[in-house]
Amino acid sequence: MSVLLGCIADDFTGATDLAGTLVREGMRTVQMIDVPTGPVPEVDAVVIALKSRTTPVKDAIVESLSALAWLREAGCRQFFFKYCSTFDSTDKGNIGPVGEALLDALGDDFSIACPAFPRNARTICKGYLFVGDVLLNESGMQDHPLTPMTDANLVRVLDRQTKGAVGLVDYATVRRGALATMEAFSALRGDGTRFAVVDALDDADLKTIGEACADMDLVTGGSGVAMGLPENFRRQGLLEATETADRLTSIDGYAAVLAGSCSRATREQIAIMSRDHPALKIDPLALAKDESVAAQAIDWARPLLADGPLLIYASADPEEVQAAQAALGVERAGALVEEAMAEIARGLIATGVRRLIVAGGETSGAVVGGLGITGLRIGPEIDPGVPWTESLGETPLLLALKSGNFGAPDFFTKAFGQLP
Ligand code: ADP
Repeated sequence: MSVLLGCIADDFTGATDLAGTLVREGMRTVQMIDVPTGPVPEVDAVVIALKSRTTPVKDAIVESLSALAWLREAGCRQFFFKYCSTFDSTDKGNIGPVGEALLDALGDDFSIACPAFPRNARTICKGYLFVGDVLLNESGMQDHPLTPMTDANLVRVLDRQTKGAVGLVDYATVRRGALATMEAFSALRGDGTRFAVVDALDDADLKTIGEACADMDLVTGGSGVAMGLPENFRRQGLLEATETADRLTSIDGYAAVLAGSCSRATREQIAIMSRDHPALKIDPLALAKDESVAAQAIDWARPLLADGPLLIYASADPEEVQAAQAALGVERAGALVEEAMAEIARGLIATGVRRLIVAGGETSGAVVGGLGITGLRIGPEIDPGVPWTESLGETPLLLALKSGNFGAPDFFTKAFGQLP
């Protein structure tokens, strides 16, 4: 069986979010870090995580097309372009130009644009995007440093980004069901419209829209609208009704936590785990003076691993972080910690660690990069937004990559108690 749904996400956490949604809806899903070069994994959906949200338009198009080419080669029947539920973009792009380039490459002429994510209070009404009770351009997004959103009308916003015409399918049509929505798509397509912004106020609307997109080559939107797509494959008999889309291989080995996030949530999680597990703190000032600090940490861990999970962290309270940053510079302090965490991760894996939690977005990126991991199979959720994953490749690992603020106070011990 080849992959059914091929997704291109314009950033890493957006890709994780989408992959989690697809798994919950019953698709076995792998998240690839960058455009893959290796073999096609045995799954129902692949999400390729790019970093194309704010790169120059040309680069975003080139990367997205190369992701599309790989997904087509993998046999995908439908393609999904995932962007942020606040439609993060500028008048230059990148959502519109990438969407149009994908349509052109597929030889198609029509798609939808639906960033709605009602569970996170992102709804679209008459083409206007709301964040909670206010319009997008009053939500704080108007002050975003890279993609200030000063117009909440997505038809206008997308129209400024695209060559083709942009239309609207409003909620009154969506509420009349999938057939009425499909007819509206056909009418717009017939008029030469290239993208239809589609209203959605709740999850039921998203499911209707998903159903109406069954025959569309390319769907674009937030992770919300992807919710309705798996059912189309099930209806066609291509996807089994399964409760086990999140099943991972159980992998034996030692367990460890690496924490580089200095968020309040992570510091509390560290305090709780340190009570009854070995814990070692790494100081960026020491890293700057002594090249062997990471090697010393690995030596510290080696004899302890057989007794259970241990913790190595650089996380510190704001005063300590400021002091390190004042001495080393913000970037150097961060980079020293990230490099050390990557080196320690490699050392721990060489010692037999196969279950690893990493706390911190940037820290996770450094560790995954340092270990040369190319893809992650998405497993069961430990806490909202943080699943266990299984790395692809010769030495599979169970990995939980946690954004700093995520997870309950007992997250680390809880996660090891819920291993696949
Ligand atoms: P979060 O998900 O909480 O934002 P990140 O890993 O993305 O966490 O970011 C935390 C950053 O802080 C990383 O670049 C990390 O290297 C850096 N860092 C960690 N510990 C310290 C410290 N003690 N002093 C200065 N910077 C640190």
